[in-house]
Amino acid sequence: MPPSRMAAYLALVGTLGFASIALALIATPWSTTTAEILVWPSLFLAVAAIAGEVKPLVVSSRGGVRTLSTSAPFVLALVAVAGVGVAVLVQAIASLADDMLHRRAWKKSLFNTAQYAVSVFTARAVFAWLAGVPLFGGPATVEPRDIAPLLAAGLAMIVVNWLLVAGVVSLSTEQSLRSVLRADVRDFLLTNVVLLSVGGIAAVVAADGIGALALLGAPVIAAHLFASAVARHTHDATHDSLTGLGNRGQVDYELSRALEAARRLKTAGPGLVLLDLDHFKDFNDTLGHPVGDQILREVADRLVDAVPEGTYVHRTGGDEFAVVVNGGLSASRRVALDLLSSFDWPVPVESLELLVRASLGVAIAPEHGSDGETLMKNADIALYHAKIERDMISIYSPEFDVNTVERLQLLADLRTAIEEKALYVAYQPQVDLDSGRTVGVEALVRWDHPLRGSIGPDEFIPLAENSGLIYPLTAFVLDTALGQLSRWRASGHDLRMAVNLSARHLSDPVLPDLVAGTAAIHGVPLSALVLEVTETGILADATRTDVVIRALRERGVAISIDDYGTGNASLGYLQRLEIDELKIDRSFVSDIGTDGQDLIIVQSTIKLALALGLRVVAEGVEDERTTETLREFGGVIGQGYHLGRPVAPKQIEARLQAERRAAAGPSERA
Ligand code: C2E
Ligand code: MG
Ligand code: MG
Repeated sequence: MPPSRMAAYLALVGTLGFASIALALIATPWSTTTAEILVWPSLFLAVAAIAGEVKPLVVSSRGGVRTLSTSAPFVLALVAVAGVGVAVLVQAIASLADDMLHRRAWKKSLFNTAQYAVSVFTARAVFAWLAGVPLFGGPATVEPRDIAPLLAAGLAMIVVNWLLVAGVVSLSTEQSLRSVLRADVRDFLLTNVVLLSVGGIAAVVAADGIGALALLGAPVIAAHLFASAVARHTHDATHDSLTGLGNRGQVDYELSRALEAARRLKTAGPGLVLLDLDHFKDFNDTLGHPVGDQILREVADRLVDAVPEGTYVHRTGGDEFAVVVNGGLSASRRVALDLLSSFDWPVPVESLELLVRASLGVAIAPEHGSDGETLMKNADIALYHAKIERDMISIYSPEFDVNTVERLQLLADLRTAIEEKALYVAYQPQVDLDSGRTVGVEALVRWDHPLRGSIGPDEFIPLAENSGLIYPLTAFVLDTALGQLSRWRASGHDLRMAVNLSARHLSDPVLPDLVAGTAAIHGVPLSALVLEVTETGILADATRTDVVIRALRERGVAISIDDYGTGNASLGYLQRLEIDELKIDRSFVSDIGTDGQDLIIVQSTIKLALALGLRVVAEGVEDERTTETLREFGGVIGQGYHLGRPVAPKQIEARLQAERRAAAGPSERA
């Protein structure tokens, strides 16, 4: 905002206003005024004017809700009936009362008082001129022939008032005066002209006493009722009933206005920030919709608090929110960061403390689109990117496009693959290094894509996790692995089956039942099952994770911490959670032959874990030297390419049989 122009404008209006007040007060013939004034009718008009100011009409439009004072007709009547001194005084009292009631800043209040004084003074001037009465005359009776001059005076009053206010709005919002005036010309003029006709009648019937005047209250009250019904209706149509935030339509509207303003003023932006809660469906599914609603309301409140003054948060869908930022990249990024920080502390719901997370996508005009639709599409792509890459905040980049389309295709293919059972499971042996025997296998899911060939789980598991497909995927792996285990057990091979779980499963209270049900179908004991979870998975939502893990362990399932060392959990913390096994991440294990530091880490971790009574699996054993080193530590189970790659069940079967023969061999000979 150019402060100098604004200051000059305020000073000008202020001077004119207070000059009008001073002139009206000094020049009014107060002795005749007090002697001749129609006390009750004037008092009635004064009270109606003040009431109209402090209890304005609520008018709604797409841009939001505005208020419209109904004091004008009564002040206008006073202009004619009681003279300019009384009218200016009543209008000043009404305006000050309203400002005080709404605790408006004194500067604003002075401006309001001044601009009203100018408007009222103008009205009297026009009336005096057209009706041929003195400018500073005292009370007078208004004849029907005075109605036309009075309406003209009223028109002058509201037009002056409207122009003066539009001037301030234009200076403070940096919109051109024309666009400010155009924005509300229809509502404003129309409603005011209707109200002014009430003023004309009021002036004429004032002489007949307060009874006739009181009848005029009816149309004003009717206007109030009508306007507030319309406002409610418009609000309902444009707002979300759960959170009270604006809906998708509001975003489009706000975006188009912001785009137009930025174009006109040649400023950067606007930015569009889309926010989507991570795994919100889980909360809904596991805790029920009322809790889901509670979370949404709490999140909505936090988001509203996080954005700057004058910026609105909208709810565009189930767990999606949108914010239009009046500014370019840095302003949008700041808003996105502030929104994200709303999730720093857990949401208390009933007795739970839920960690809610969100991902954000940002697109900024004009770089990422110069119309609302393109911006929306690109912010959506950025959001999707943020979800997949777990970036939390992604700013749109054109290269996301190809990527996103590809991933969407992959996701669709994965859905079909799961439905058509086109996935399969490979098994990697886990070898007890002391005895050299295969004591377990890890089930690792595989996908032979019809066009792209073999795709590794590192590529499609994150997709599955972000889309909810992880549930049927895990169910498939569990079912396949436990079915396979049952066949191996039937041929006399007793071994453990390790299955990987995603973090999401750990806050799913139905998981223990799913696991137990699947094991029962295949007739395998739950004690043969090991479920691998990562540290981050456990730490994400410790309270709920704890419940699920305990339930699983109570049924005899062993819990293993996968990729140990890559997260931040301390061994002590993990031990408190009651786990059974630690899998040291291959990034430490594969280098123990060459990296002294890694050797120390692995050795001390193994020692500590064994002392705590945990089983230890070393992942990523890639050569004999590593195998030897680990074997020397004692009590370690190894897994890695050197000991056996993930293979088809047939090959595991062959391996187990060979081991059995080797074990039986010497004893037969003995
Ligand atoms: P993970 O659970 O840590 O599984 C071990 C991964 O290391 C496997 O990769 C395995 O092939 C690989 N690996 C085994 N030995 C060696 C070695 O000596 N050197 C090297 N460089 N790598 C070795 P894979 O099969 O690609 O799986 C990657 C990850 O995908 C797994 O890591 C696991 O987190 C996830 N995953 C696999 N199957 C499933 C599943 O059914 N469900 C879930 N939720 N995640 C799965
Ligand atoms: Mg694993
Ligand atoms: Mg691992």
